[in-house]
Amino acid sequence: MSGAALAQASPVPGCAEAPVLRERGQREVFCGLTGIIWLHRKIQDAFFLIVGSRTCAHLMQSAAGVMIFAEPRFATAIIEERDLAGLADANEELDRVVNQLLARRPDIRLLFLVGSCPSEVIKLDLSRAASRLNATHAPGVRVLNYSGSGIETTFTQGEDACLAALVPEMRADPAPGLLVVGALAEVVEDQMRRLFAALGIGPVAFLPPRRAAELPGIGPGVRFLLAQPFLAETARLLEARGARRLAAPFPLGAEGTTAWLRAAAEAWGVPATRFREVTAIGEQRARTAIARHRGPLAGRRIFFFPDSQLEIPLARFLSRELGMRPVEIGTPYLHRQHLAEELALLPADAVLSEGQHVDRQLDRCRAARPDLVVCGLGLANPLEAEGFATKWSIELVFTPIQGYDQAGDLAELFARPLHRRATLMV
Ligand code: SF4
Repeated sequence: MSGAALAQASPVPGCAEAPVLRERGQREVFCGLTGIIWLHRKIQDAFFLIVGSRTCAHLMQSAAGVMIFAEPRFATAIIEERDLAGLADANEELDRVVNQLLARRPDIRLLFLVGSCPSEVIKLDLSRAASRLNATHAPGVRVLNYSGSGIETTFTQGEDACLAALVPEMRADPAPGLLVVGALAEVVEDQMRRLFAALGIGPVAFLPPRRAAELPGIGPGVRFLLAQPFLAETARLLEARGARRLAAPFPLGAEGTTAWLRAAAEAWGVPATRFREVTAIGEQRARTAIARHRGPLAGRRIFFFPDSQLEIPLARFLSRELGMRPVEIGTPYLHRQHLAEELALLPADAVLSEGQHVDRQLDRCRAARPDLVVCGLGLANPLEAEGFATKWSIELVFTPIQGYDQAGDLAELFARPLHRRATLMV
């Protein structure tokens, strides 16, 4: 059965009236392996070894593009037919590949064995392989594992799985502190650090860290802010270790960034006047940068296909700060608790959909005739050929978009396809 089902009204604040269209069927999404592309740049002494097939290697090659020539810190150990014949051989082969890799790359401190569809289907036990390899390579290298397979994960859920694998590695630390969770570009992380320092909030740590040895401590004193909306499992594990999540919208746009910072400021008891002093200039700068793109975007109708789970925060930003009108906001997975603050800020008439039945969704998109469609690469060109302006959603994950100083760039990412279209039509 793959039909769409119109669910009961979901109990979410602000959107309590809006039903969520839950769909199951053919999907046009990436698997979680793609998360490696930004994660390997972030954790600078980590290596990601995918245990998969040639298909997985091809996916990474296409998605990473030119980076594959720059000695990246990821690779695929390809499961050959020979390995399929006997799991014992596959384990031996994996150990051999890892030993060779670590001998050749002494800079690696953290090695992730990343599961794929083929490794899961043949039931290769990567957690056992990780503990076996740990015994050989500790303490110089820590070996962990997680799944990035298309069976278990969609696109950014690969990051969630990776960070979730790091949580048990965090040392117990009863000291109070703020933990920012979710891979952010370094420039964004540095800006956030400066803002928290000016507010007197700290100590502040980031997960993932830039280096394996900088993995922060965790305990009941820690309050954490999610910087990304797709970290359900990581958040659950952090809470299981006593940390508490600070509920907030995500730091996209001027409004989102201020609300996100405010959640930490309130938890730290920062006086309101001090908060305004520290945030006013950045917020104003963001509003000015955003206003430059309002003209072409205000009043335009936008349709989101599900991709990264960033769709809801993006729709909130585009509707409230740029005057766009979300027609349908598709998300691969809707975590109501983490998105409660976002849902409360969405326009009441926006349709929310969770999961995908791509043909039905294409039909709805065609019927709605939106001015801009946010979708993956597989749908973008065919939709352009049908006369739709599209925005590739993958760029929203690879580009620094969080915080005040990126708010103008974020607005521009949506203005550009409309601008290009107008230019080409002249
Ligand atoms: S993990 Fe699965 S979905 Fe992803 S590239 Fe490999 S085979 Fe394809």
